[in-house]
Amino acid sequence: MAKVEVRCPYCGTNEIVKYGKEKTGVQRYKCMNKECCRKIFQLEYVIVDPIRQ
Ligand SMILES: [Zn+2]
Repeated sequence: MAKVEVRCPYCGTNEIVKYGKEKTGVQRYKCMNKECCRKIFQLEYVIVDPIRQ
């Protein structure tokens, strides 16, 4: 089971909590670093077309 480490793109901390999802189903995260203003961000996923090989 692969562990995905989520880091804040603004400050680089791994003090992240999940913060709901977009309507498109994209997971959002919230930075818990006080010095980072607790920004909300989302990871960018690369969708691989399963048909293409
Ligand atoms: Zn941050």
